[in-house]
Amino acid sequence: MIYLDYAATTPVDQRVIDAMLPYFRENFGNPSSIHRYGQKAESAVDAAREKVAAVLHCRADEIIFTSCGSESDNLALRGAAMARRNDSGRKWILTSKTEHHAVSKTAQQLEKEYGFQLEWLDVNEYGEVTSEALKKAVCDDTALASVMYANNEIGTINPIAELAKIAHDNNILFHTDAVQAAAYLDVNVEKLGVDLMSLGGHKFYGPKGVGALYVRKGTKLLPHLTGGGQEFSLRAGTHNVPYIVGFAEALHLAAEERDARMGHVKPLRDHIIGQVLETIPDSRLTGHPESRLPNHASFVFKDVDGNLLMQMLDAAGFACSSGSACKTGNPEPSEVITSLGYSRDWALGSLRITLGVDSSPADVDDFLKSLPLLVEKVRGLRVAK
Ligand SMILES: *Cc1c(COP(=O)(O)O)cnc(C)c1O
Repeated sequence: MIYLDYAATTPVDQRVIDAMLPYFRENFGNPSSIHRYGQKAESAVDAAREKVAAVLHCRADEIIFTSCGSESDNLALRGAAMARRNDSGRKWILTSKTEHHAVSKTAQQLEKEYGFQLEWLDVNEYGEVTSEALKKAVCDDTALASVMYANNEIGTINPIAELAKIAHDNNILFHTDAVQAAAYLDVNVEKLGVDLMSLGGHKFYGPKGVGALYVRKGTKLLPHLTGGGQEFSLRAGTHNVPYIVGFAEALHLAAEERDARMGHVKPLRDHIIGQVLETIPDSRLTGHPESRLPNHASFVFKDVDGNLLMQMLDAAGFACSSGSACKTGNPEPSEVITSLGYSRDWALGSLRITLGVDSSPADVDDFLKSLPLLVEKVRGLRVAK
C-alpha cells in the first residue's frame, strides 16, 4: 500500500514518540500539583511552550495548548467573536468559502444561535482570498476576519500578511487556520501579522489529539472550557503532558527540517502535476498553480465519480483522497471545489494527492502508471450505466 494522503494525517515521527514516552510513566505528574511530580510535568509543559514560541516568534504566554486544530479554530472564532461583541458591540464575522469546517461550521453556528452576522468572502478561480475581496467586505461593525493560511483540499496559499494588514487598518481581529500550512510554510506571527493562529499536531508528524492556538498579547477571548485555571484561564483541563511535549517537538523538527522536506516533496509533486495533466484527457489542476503547498497536487476529472475512483485506487494499493465529504451513497460535490466555479460534472471527479517524508520517486511512478487506466475505467463504467 502506498500512502499519498499526508494532508489527512501523518505518521508520528519516531523522535517525537521518544520525546513523549517518559511523560506517560516516569514523569506522569499533574503540572498543577505543588510537589516534585507536578513540578517536573510543569517544567515539561513550560519547555514545550517555549519551543513552540521560538518557532512562531512570539512570547510563550501567547500559546494556548488545545486538543486539536478544530478546537483551536473553535476557541479563536467563538472566543474572539464573543469578547469583541461584549467590548465594542461589533457583530460581523468575515470568512472565506473555502475554510475547513472547523471554521465555517463555527461561524455558521455563531450566526444561527448567537446573533452574529456572517459574510462569506469570495475567492478567485484558484480559491484565493484577495485583498480586494476583503477590502470590499469590511465595515465599521466587523468584529473578526478568519482566512486560512493554506487550503487542505486544493493546496492554495492565501496572502495572509496582506489580509491581516487590511484587517488591522480597519480595527478588525484577524485569525488564520494554519493547520495545513505549518508543515511547510513559515509560521512567524510577526511576519504574518495575525492576532490568532490555529495549529494541529498530526499534520506535521506529531500526535493526533493535540493542537495550539496563538493569541497575540492583549487579544481578548471568552474562555472556552471553564474550570481550573489552566492555559491562562482560557482552556481548563489537566494538561495532556506527553502530547504537548510531542506537539512541540514535532513543530520544532518541522521548522528545522523545512527546507529539506520541501526539497524532497516539491519535485515529486511537480512531476505528478505535469504527468497527470499530460496523460489524462479532461483533467485540470485545482487550486493555485504556483502559490500552493509544496506537497499538494489536486485535480478534477470531467465525468468521473471521484468516490468510485478512490475505491479503485485503494484496491490498486494507493491511499488518496477526494474532495467530497461523503464516502458512499450519492455525494454532493465539495463546496470548496464548486466555489472555484466548477460545474457538477467536473466537481464530482476530484482527487487529492499529498506527499510526505516517506514518499519515494518509485511510489510516484507506480501511481502515475495506474491512475490514467483507472480514470478511463471509471469513465467507462459511467457510460455503461
Ligand atoms: C486537519 C485540519 C483541521 C482540523 O484539525 P484537527 O487537528 O484534525 O482537528 C483544521 N483546518 C485545516 C485546514 C485542516 O487541514
